[in-house]
Amino acid sequence: MRDDLQQTLVLIKPDALKNSLTGYVLSQFSEFHTGLTFAGTKVVHVTRMLAEEHYAEHRGKVFFPALIEMITGHLHYPGEPDKQRVIAIVYKGPDVIRKVREICGPTNPHVARDEKPGCVRSLGTVVALKDAQGNIVGDRMDNLIHASATPEEAEREIKLWFRPDDIPPAIRAFPTVHS
Ligand code: ADP
Ligand code: MG
Repeated sequence: MRDDLQQTLVLIKPDALKNSLTGYVLSQFSEFHTGLTFAGTKVVHVTRMLAEEHYAEHRGKVFFPALIEMITGHLHYPGEPDKQRVIAIVYKGPDVIRKVREICGPTNPHVARDEKPGCVRSLGTVVALKDAQGNIVGDRMDNLIHASATPEEAEREIKLWFRPDDIPPAIRAFPTVHS
């Protein structure tokens, strides 16, 4: 990947959509605050196949089935297939992968709240899904966003989620699978 055109994948997950945090998340990444710019964006209905491919590194872990339920929207929007979607965004800019992960904060929203108050994922503790009795369920997963962690991961994920036409040729960092 060309360094000056480094790109990363961000997913606004169903827990963020459900809690009307899309605008908040976008504002945290805005060009004005960060100097980063959009390369592409789309709303995606996440099939189980896409979800399992995206999170392939976690296959076999105890939380994997719940993670797939969450990212496909089944957890937050049971029985509402029209609302089962995520917003996928490619951001670009120098050092974008590290900068975006920095804005996200730690994976566990409780750690995020304690160690980096104000980061996006710290809000996950506030909005964590509650069951009918008010007990928090799935709170380790409720961190609102996904962001690629390494250049290799970013390339793999952008190729998985985006087609060539989704990203204008002038700002494409690498050929996608379809081109
Ligand atoms: P990150 O999203 O920070 O790259 P991971 O790749 O380790 O973190 O995990 C992917 C996603 O799986 C996390 O964002 C979170 O939603 C969920 N997750 C990670 N670890 C756990 C866990 N121990 N229990 C429940 N969910 C988890
Ligand atoms: Mg990860």
